[in-house]
Amino acid sequence: MTEAIVVGAGPNGLAAALALAGEGIDVTVLEAADRIGGGTRTSELTVPGVLHDHCSAFHPMGLGSPFLRGLSLDRYGVAWRWPEIEVAHPLDGGRAGVLLRSLDDTAARLGTDGGAWRRLFGPLAEGFDELVEDVMRPVVHVPRHPIRLARFGTRALLPAAWTAGRWDGAEARALFGGVAAHGFHPLGRPTTSAIGLMLIAAGHRFGWPVAEGGSRVITDAMAMLLTDLGGKIETGVRVASLAELPRADAVLLDLAPRGVVEVAGDQLPARVRRAYERYRHGPGAFKIDLAVEGGIPWANPDCRRAGTVHVGGSFEEMADAESDVGRGRMPVRPFVLVGQQYLADPTRSAGDVHPVWAYAHVPHGYSGDATESILAQIERFAPGLGDRIVGRSVTATTAWPTYNANYVGGDIITGENTPLQVAFRPTVALDPYYTGIPGVYICSAATPPGGGVHGMCGYNAARSALRRLS
Ligand SMILES: Cc1cc2nc3c(=O)[nH]c(=O)nc-3n(C[C@H](O)[C@H](O)[C@H](O)COP(=O)(O)OP(=O)(O)OC[C@H]3O[C@@H](n4cnc5c(N)ncnc54)[C@H](O)[C@@H]3O)c2cc1C
Repeated sequence: MTEAIVVGAGPNGLAAALALAGEGIDVTVLEAADRIGGGTRTSELTVPGVLHDHCSAFHPMGLGSPFLRGLSLDRYGVAWRWPEIEVAHPLDGGRAGVLLRSLDDTAARLGTDGGAWRRLFGPLAEGFDELVEDVMRPVVHVPRHPIRLARFGTRALLPAAWTAGRWDGAEARALFGGVAAHGFHPLGRPTTSAIGLMLIAAGHRFGWPVAEGGSRVITDAMAMLLTDLGGKIETGVRVASLAELPRADAVLLDLAPRGVVEVAGDQLPARVRRAYERYRHGPGAFKIDLAVEGGIPWANPDCRRAGTVHVGGSFEEMADAESDVGRGRMPVRPFVLVGQQYLADPTRSAGDVHPVWAYAHVPHGYSGDATESILAQIERFAPGLGDRIVGRSVTATTAWPTYNANYVGGDIITGENTPLQVAFRPTVALDPYYTGIPGVYICSAATPPGGGVHGMCGYNAARSALRRLS
């Protein structure tokens, strides 16, 4: 029987394992941590009974992923839950931009900017399912929907600052900027529109849901399905070298390129090794999880109903903060993402004590403490928060690589979104998953289509392995 080993049980490692097991291959997954899941773990980080997502929280791309959708994970316990408002973006003076699943309702709330919002996102949301079939594959491929892809591509290449110029009002500009900032890249640089366009279109198509019980439920379900398909998972096994692996026809590595160099060393062709060593990691995250009695007292009432709140002020203010971070400087007022998953999924709270998830964008490898800057940013739009905090847990930027070796320098999306790496990652190659070592592939978020819990990197890598195996 054909045998495969997958190193790393993150969503991409498990997706690769499922795609292989689905073809009758005997798959074993080896995971360094005591628990599977990588960027999808959930546990009580602050006070008993309050459930926090350690990493990923919102899953517009999970629901939009052609591979994950095809798995019907609801059979294994995945239940998506939506907040009333997908994203809110508070501004000084009590105003806020609001992203709703309904395009019409979002546009209506943006006043005179509503028409331009609808013209940009209407076609993208409507054609989203076709678009992902092309966008979630490597750049070099025969497009299934070339006209749609070309239309998207011309817009995606633009800096987010140019795209924001379509709107006059602070609400629309900030709403777009906050979503585009998920790319962790200065908003004046080319291709920074891409992530904003995709995540907003996904929001209008699917919303920004959470998984009931926490993000861990997604990978727990993938693991159950894998077991049903005959696959095996071993935790607490850190793979240090390819040489220590049992014989296999294919080895798929859910690792950052640097991790691949560590385990494969001199077996890698010199050109690939150099490219992996040069692979760029981006800014870091500094995260705090809070247990908050009564929830965050946002001044703007829409923020009290939103799953995600982007705290960064105006577009221009966020652009300055992201630009500082890109230059290695810690901004006084960093861009902060706040998650209130409990609004969609009340099972995560204990009585009136609710989990709040927040992280700031900080420079790569930042060794300082951003706790007070994050709290000050939230307090700016939610005075009185400090009095309600009854528990907290901090994950400093320097702690991320210990938590998960893929988060080099605190880079939680496993690779900087430079224009080159948006198009080609981890290296410029026709098959970006093949490492050049016969039978060995890289399948982490360092490969196309990049960061997020969608499993498409793992699925694409498995297709590459299957092509060569056959
Ligand atoms: C704070 C934070 C917030 C995020 N928010 C979101 C969000 O809201 N929505 C979203 O879609 N995405 C989000 N992400 C990103 C998302 O979690 C990642 O992009 C995704 O998990 C990548 O999946 P992966 O399988 O490539 O890698 P990972 O999830 O990083 O998994 C890699 C696995 O490999 C294991 N491993 C590493 N080295 C070895 C080794 N040598 N031997 C054995 N095992 C090894 C690791 O322990 C880990 O389990 C967030 C991430 C973080 C950290």
